[in-house]
Amino acid sequence: MRPPAVLDSTPMEDIVSRASTLRAYAEETATCERCALAATRTQVVFGAGDPDADLMFVGEAPGFHEDQQGVPFVGQAGKLLERLLGEIGLQRSDVWIANVLKCRPPGNRDPLPDEIAACEPHLFRQIELIQPKLVATLGNFATKLLSGSPLGITRVHGVAQEVALGDLRVTLYPIYHPAAALYTPAMLKVLAEDFGRIPGLLGQVAPAGLPTAAAAQPETVEAAGSEAAATQLGLF
Ligand code: URA
Repeated sequence: MRPPAVLDSTPMEDIVSRASTLRAYAEETATCERCALAATRTQVVFGAGDPDADLMFVGEAPGFHEDQQGVPFVGQAGKLLERLLGEIGLQRSDVWIANVLKCRPPGNRDPLPDEIAACEPHLFRQIELIQPKLVATLGNFATKLLSGSPLGITRVHGVAQEVALGDLRVTLYPIYHPAAALYTPAMLKVLAEDFGRIPGLLGQVAPAGLPTAAAAQPETVEAAGSEAAATQLGLF
């Protein structure tokens, strides 16, 4: 379900067919063996949320709890993400949440370049099917992958850019990863401020007291991105 401030013109049959295509793709992905993480994961963590979402979040990779439950962002970082969403009047069921990697790297180590390359088609297919208007990248890995730029999150957070992801033009909005902000109050403050610009970027009215669209005009950046069994909490 979308928040009421968004005018939705997508016909219902398109939404239903998008959801069923996404479900079929999630089932196909559940047996993925495109990289070595297939040997150590408990399960593939596909992505979850509203298949018709305007706003998509892309994190890094599943952690312990996500690997156990098969749903992205269900651990501590996920709780913070939900809190930040709540502060801008959204719930996780209003958005789509995915990761650069669909399988947990052992010990939560950083994703390796060959794992990112192998998993990329799964992310791009989700973007292609969901057709979000705004993609918020959480942290360095998602930001570098989808912006196609080596600039790190410290340099680019909080500034929206227009990018092409496959055939789709979207607004990319890099922000800090919630896990990085969990124990660093200064970073949490910046993350909350960056979150506060999301309603403006979506063309929505921000809840009282939050920054609005004024500071949220996307920059134009050309053609970014490389070549570029979900069961989320009652939805999908
Ligand atoms: N961190 C991520 O990047 N993704 C998750 O799903 C959970 C934690």
